[in-house]
Amino acid sequence: MNLEKFQESMYQLIVETSTNLPKDVRRAVKKAKQSESAGTRAAMSLGTITNNIQMADENISPICQDTGLPTFKIKTPVGVNQIKIKEAIYNAIAQATKDTKLRPNSVDSLTGKNSGDNLGGGTPVIKFDQWENDYIDVRLILKGGGCENKNIQYSLPCELDGLGRAGRDLDGIRKCILHSVYQAQGQGCSAGFIGVGIGGDRSSGYDLAKEQLFRSVEDVNPHEDLRKLEEYIMENANKLGIGTMGFGGETTLLGCKIGVMNRIPASFFVSVAYNCWAFRRLGVKVDPKTGDIQEWLYQDGEKIEFANEAENEVAASKEESNVVTLTAPITEEQIRELKVGDVVRIDGRMYTGRDAIHKYLTDHDAPVDLNGQVIYHCGPVMAKDEEGNWTVKAAGPTTSIREEPYQGDIMKKFGIRAVIGKGGMGPKTLAALQEHGGVYLNAIGGAAQYYADCIKKVDGVDLTEFGIPEAMWHLNVEGFTAVVTMDSHGNSLHADVDKSSLEKLAQFKERVF
Ligand code: SF4
Repeated sequence: MNLEKFQESMYQLIVETSTNLPKDVRRAVKKAKQSESAGTRAAMSLGTITNNIQMADENISPICQDTGLPTFKIKTPVGVNQIKIKEAIYNAIAQATKDTKLRPNSVDSLTGKNSGDNLGGGTPVIKFDQWENDYIDVRLILKGGGCENKNIQYSLPCELDGLGRAGRDLDGIRKCILHSVYQAQGQGCSAGFIGVGIGGDRSSGYDLAKEQLFRSVEDVNPHEDLRKLEEYIMENANKLGIGTMGFGGETTLLGCKIGVMNRIPASFFVSVAYNCWAFRRLGVKVDPKTGDIQEWLYQDGEKIEFANEAENEVAASKEESNVVTLTAPITEEQIRELKVGDVVRIDGRMYTGRDAIHKYLTDHDAPVDLNGQVIYHCGPVMAKDEEGNWTVKAAGPTTSIREEPYQGDIMKKFGIRAVIGKGGMGPKTLAALQEHGGVYLNAIGGAAQYYADCIKKVDGVDLTEFGIPEAMWHLNVEGFTAVVTMDSHGNSLHADVDKSSLEKLAQFKERVF
């Protein structure tokens, strides 16, 4: 095989997957958008999402800043050298990372050191199969951490919140799947897609669940019982009212694909792989002699272009909501005036901070004065030009709940007034917001291009020893818009949506299958 050409083909696959959402996924997002009423938070969120999809496509930049764990599934004709294929993929991954099409995302699990090129033990994941066909089939998924962390595995029989006993039968499986959507809330950047694996052991069950994510969103399950179950879940999970980003709304789930395999008598696992709306998976057929791409997969049918209409949704929502402009340093009085549902537009300075920074700040001084400042839970994709200046290539919010053990204490210790992230935070942070006078702002998860566009300048950086995504970036922003979902009066939209969706979940307690 022409390995140079094959490497080039893999580079194209990686860049397309990271920057251009597949056609079947676009159609599902469009359908969701049509189901939401104009002016709602859900419509605004979907407007931001579709705007972001379009920007990523046009700029050939990552749809979301979280590259996730690149996972390749490859089928080769007998006789193809899989060792050489692996090498070519490693080179293509390193090149795409250098070109800022992927964020450096491979971290030593013990030291926390980022390898810088997305290569390292177990990264990327490459799984091979052989087959009798005369071409190589390569599929790639980039599944981010926010949604990966919402994967869940059930061991039947079990007791489920709202649904009671889930037994070892189709109806028990139904309950587990509904529960998996409920427990994810908006934290996996809903509206999402789920792949479900029935049977196997703990590891093969999850593999089967992830395998379902490689099916087309629009295919029909050939297994009659599973087809019915998929339809049932799509119809009813969307009645839970969790909505886009967990803001409430009509669409929570964009796709459900279920697979089954045998199990051993003692075990009965239902494994669920949750994928966010930024469902980045593509595939190619490659000629094993020339290394050329023969055909792109998942790209049949109409391609939805989201231009312009997204702006209208955002504007409509802002008209319906109270829009407040804030510039740091922010006073306690300004914060106390905000309430859940307000839209905040930030101009001026904000600082990024995620896991490493929060841990660090608990027992160190901050490198800058954080009094009255805004912390953004974000691990951006950054590029350095020849003069040494940094630019932001992708900068959506990361999942905030990981900072729950630290956030309240850090806000009080340094006088931070606003925290921006996604998915909401828990009771400890809510109490601190009330006591100290702080606010939590929910940005739209995955809207990495949309927010990167709001960042007009990078004024500096501290703590680079934690790696690019974990460093503290000093950003100068304009028109950075997010929604107040936790205020200083003890209100949390996340707690409210959790409570109401649990009540709705309980409607599905009775046996259906
Ligand atoms: S859209 Fe959300 S869950 Fe998906 S990769 Fe991006 S940040 Fe993670």
